[in-house]
Amino acid sequence: MTTEAKKSKVYFTDMRVKSGDTLLKKLERLMKKAGIEDIDFQNKYTAIKIHFGEPGNLAYLRPNYAKVVADLVKEAGGRPFLTDCNTLYIGGRKNALDHMESAYQNGFSPFSTGCHIIIGDGLKGTDEVYVPVEGGEYVKEAKIGRAVMDADIIISLNHFKGHECAGFGGALKNLGMGCGSRAGKMEMHSAGKPYVHQELCIGCKKCTNICAHEAAIVTDKKASIDHNKCVGCGRCIGVCPQDAVKPAQDESFDILNRKMAEYTKAVIQGRPNFHISLVIDVSPFCDCHAENDAAVVPNVGMFASFDPVALDVACADAVNAQPVIANTLLAESNHEGHDHFGAISPDTNWKSCIEHAVKLGIGSDQYELITIR
Ligand code: SF4
Ligand code: SF4
Repeated sequence: MTTEAKKSKVYFTDMRVKSGDTLLKKLERLMKKAGIEDIDFQNKYTAIKIHFGEPGNLAYLRPNYAKVVADLVKEAGGRPFLTDCNTLYIGGRKNALDHMESAYQNGFSPFSTGCHIIIGDGLKGTDEVYVPVEGGEYVKEAKIGRAVMDADIIISLNHFKGHECAGFGGALKNLGMGCGSRAGKMEMHSAGKPYVHQELCIGCKKCTNICAHEAAIVTDKKASIDHNKCVGCGRCIGVCPQDAVKPAQDESFDILNRKMAEYTKAVIQGRPNFHISLVIDVSPFCDCHAENDAAVVPNVGMFASFDPVALDVACADAVNAQPVIANTLLAESNHEGHDHFGAISPDTNWKSCIEHAVKLGIGSDQYELITIR
């Protein structure tokens, strides 16, 4: 890791609970000890960024944890809401209606969490704000879901687990990739121009009608996209009734990680932010999958910090210090080294995201771990 003089404080509690106590009370104590009450929540819209889980996946964070965060914000006078942005790929969360349906199926509702759900980038993933990235090398203007940017305060509530592109999914992934609109996600995953799978196309011209740049054209009842005219706004992906327009996934994982750091900076810069990661059910891949393979290491605990970079490094170190569980993908991988995430997804390098985040001034890769009961 690069050296950074300043150490950020990361607070930790394990998953042990004595009679009379609960994990939910432990989470509340953790957040308070980490200083969340130093934020002035009074009458402030507070976005709690979470991943609701793809239907079928059972590794996502239970809504009970989100309720603890929402209750604390409300007690402090704030106005919390749960949020995520629509997915780039075709699945159960590709527009706001499907996304909310998936969240309800997975147990997230105003009754279970004490606050409402707002899908950050609107019905079709196009309600976005262009946010300049200070010091951005790859992204000049990040495309972030409007509701996320309209919030006065942002809290990330992260399920820490493996990720097939980023190595692991923690705070930086949840904030950077997760708050990107469809165009934003496309910018991180690729050079930014979608393609039409013509075998699926029925020539309805919805893509040509929505395209403001005359890039989507239909010839002989089949659409195609002129990449010389396309600006990568992603609107055609959202309107296609056949899911025939698909993004390219041609960016290297190294650059994807660096873009993710720049998007994270766009999300948190200039407003109070706080971050919580639960290192439990550490499945090898993202909760975007409609399945979750067995957890590869034992449950570790809950972490909280004002610094999302230090938080991610602390969680990664904690996972890498764990023994490998038998009969898991990690056990079947070459895990002789010290990086469980690299063993699961050898083409990924999570350190490129951390290094770039440090360079951008988002936080420190050095931390002081403070354990509480
Ligand atoms: S919206 Fe989809 S189905 Fe309709 S013309 Fe465009 S690519 Fe084809
Ligand atoms: S991504 Fe935007 S600019 Fe490109 S073809 Fe689709 S609608 Fe047009």
